[in-house]
Amino acid sequence: MTQGNGKLIIVAGPSGSGKGTLENAILERFPDIQFSVSVTTRPRRKYEIEGEHYFFISKSDFLQRIQRDELVEWQEVYSKNGHLYGTLRSYIESVLVEGKHLLLDLDIKGGLNVQQAYPENSVSIFIRPPSVEALEQRLIKRGTDNPEQIRIRLERMPEEMELGQQFDHQIVNSELNEAVNAFINIINQDVYHQQRSI
Ligand code: 5GP
Repeated sequence: MTQGNGKLIIVAGPSGSGKGTLENAILERFPDIQFSVSVTTRPRRKYEIEGEHYFFISKSDFLQRIQRDELVEWQEVYSKNGHLYGTLRSYIESVLVEGKHLLLDLDIKGGLNVQQAYPENSVSIFIRPPSVEALEQRLIKRGTDNPEQIRIRLERMPEEMELGQQFDHQIVNSELNEAVNAFINIINQDVYHQQRSI
């Protein structure tokens, strides 16, 4: 169903693909694109702000919202100790009817589910690391995963790459400026309906 002229810019990619950095560059460049705030049961990190990064809720609140059909999609993200993450229907629909655009940072399956729920309003972008080796190097450098967690992430990569093919656009994030420019071109074309400029 079409919900106004607003677009949902769905971004997904394996952990370590650099999607967060790309998203920040896009949000800085296009101030009228709003970051979509999800609900999650994961504990808040020190730097995070309630209602800006996430709505942090309890597991029982989350389960009630599933029952009341308040979530467009939700996933248990295993790499995050089985915490639940979900997209609020009321939140995204109120933004769409106003004709505003949202950027959604979702896991891969969640991204495909939102795309399926709002085919007319979605622009989906999959961020690919240049190679398994590059991903491994990034994960080691980032230092947030132990070797076993890194092994599990790398093992999942072929399946994630396969699912990623169902997204409207693919960006290989090997050189940051090039990846940002590719992203800007997609937004100009699919969200603002302008010609490619770069
Ligand atoms: P983090 O805990 O690092 O903020 O996010 C963990 C993962 O959950 C990321 O891959 C992020 O894209 C995903 N995520 C965040 N919000 C949602 C959501 O509402 N739905 C789904 N399916 N995934 C989400």
